[in-house]
Amino acid sequence: MATISNDELINKAKSIVKPKKIKHGFSASDCGCALITDKDNLYLGVSIDTCSSMGFCAEHSAIAAMITGGEYKIKKIVAVLEDGIILPPCGRCREFMYQINSDNLEADVIIGENKVIKLKKLLPHTWDKNL
Ligand SMILES: [Zn+2]
Repeated sequence: MATISNDELINKAKSIVKPKKIKHGFSASDCGCALITDKDNLYLGVSIDTCSSMGFCAEHSAIAAMITGGEYKIKKIVAVLEDGIILPPCGRCREFMYQINSDNLEADVIIGENKVIKLKKLLPHTWDKNL
């Protein structure tokens, strides 16, 4: 699979966003994530919000799918809401990507229309340099 453009990756993420109300007023699939790996494979995932903090971000789902596929290196990643708004990853997801593989600090993170930044710029001071 050839490398897809940022717009195509954004559209892939948006295409899986299908918000659905679930129990206790929470919802699933409000946010979609699309990532491509260093091997140019595409993985997708959606968010699930629940009470008692059991939910997770769309990035978690997409990264789990990537690991299920036997891959660990992200080349490019984006998360999108139903209305097309692009969300930068939360702090937990930044750390998650780093802990999956420290090479992911070189991943391109799409944080807005025509805004792409390396994960290392979003997570400049890792806590485990001396471990
Ligand atoms: Zn997150």
